[in-house]
This record gives sequence, structure tokens and C-alpha cells, in this order.
Amino acid sequence: MSDDPQFYMARCFQCEGRTQFVRVYDGADQSGGYGDIAWYIAAECVVCRLLLTGRATQDGAFHVIENNRTLRGKRFEDVPKHIAEAASEAHKSMDAECYRGAVILARAVIESTAKDKGITGGNIASKIERMEKEDLIRPYVREGADEVRVFGNDMAHGDFVQEVGYREVQLALELMDEVLAEVYQGPARVKKARERKAKLSEGGADQPTPGARAGSEVVGRTGRPRSSGFVQSSSPWS
Ligand SMILES: [Zn+2]
Repeated sequence: MSDDPQFYMARCFQCEGRTQFVRVYDGADQSGGYGDIAWYIAAECVVCRLLLTGRATQDGAFHVIENNRTLRGKRFEDVPKHIAEAASEAHKSMDAECYRGAVILARAVIESTAKDKGITGGNIASKIERMEKEDLIRPYVREGADEVRVFGNDMAHGDFVQEVGYREVQLALELMDEVLAEVYQGPARVKKARERKAKLSEGGADQPTPGARAGSEVVGRTGRPRSSGFVQSSSPWS
């Protein structure tokens, strides 16, 4: 098979887009009838070196076998377990291209966050509003939460008219992540930093660590929403 293609275009799960794969192993012949010449190969992403197996054909097509791949969730440090798991599942759903499921989960995560903070009455819109009123989230995060709510509403209520693409879902999950960062992760980081500071002053901290200023370890909020999802998204398959 020396004149067969060495390079294939396929979607890399790790790079999140179409990249080039280089063949590293020829497996069993998969040729069918009707002149279809094909074989199993293992091929490596030239960008991130992810190794995938699949069926290659002589025209350079590479159909990745996805059975064994692990869907990527996300760890949410300092977020209550039941909410963190649902949020991670939203990311896994996006990775599996189950976009509607991802959006419905993102919306539920936001509602669940409000409930966890004692905001139980009313619909999700009023829960989000109260999160802002109670200073759990700042206005820009509230706007993001509302976007996820509106985006997820149709689907949650059984109206599937809207086209759902990867980029929209990626943005919705970024906004969901932002809500969790605002409500749980930011305050937890500040609390930990305060505890470290308190320990320093207990243990003869009259001698500050060289180069450290009081409070310099506090991880500040950036005060602006991330929008990298829109800018970077260039996946031609979405
Ligand atoms: Zn890759």
C-alpha cells in the first residue's frame, strides 16, 4: 500500500476541528465489493498527536471509529457535587455533539444553582433576577445566564424549531461556567486566600514573604465576560 495516502483529513476531538492525521499503522483489509478499497488504520493528529483508529479508503477519507473515545467532561472545583456533575455532563454532551441535551443541562444547572442558594420560588427567569438582586451574580453574568435560559427555553418546553450548532452551544456553556465561577469558585478562591493570609499573621507573619504584598494572593475577578468561544471557533464542521 505504498502509494496509498499517508495523510488524512479528519476531525480531531482534542483540537476541536479538522486537522491532518498521519497514518502510523495499517490494520486489517476492509475492502468491500464494487472496487471499494479500504483498511483499518491508526493515525495520529499532526497538531496534538492524538491517536485515533478508523477506516481509511484509497481516496484519502478517514472515518474515525468513535466507540472507544472518552467524552470530555470538566472539573468544577468548589461547586456542589450535584451541580458540578450536571455541568460536567453538559460539557460531555457538547463533546458528543448532543447539542440540545447540552443546552437543556446548562439551563438546568443555572436553575439548580439558584435553588442551592435558597432561591426556590418562581420560574427560572425570576430566579436569575433574584440571584442578581441578592448580589450572587453581577449584571453581566446575569445577562449571560438569561441568554442560556432563553436559548434553552424552547428546547426544555418541547419546541425544537431552532437550529442548534456547536458555536451556540459552546457559548452557552461558557456562560454557564461563568455563573458557577461567579457564585461558587470566585468566592471560594478569595476565602482560601484570606485563610492563608490569616495563617501568615498567626505564625509570626510580621515578616512578610519577600515580594509578597498583603492581599496580593487574592485572585481577582476580571470583571468582564470571556468571549473566546466566538473568536476562536473556526471549526468547519459545525
Ligand atoms: Zn489534534
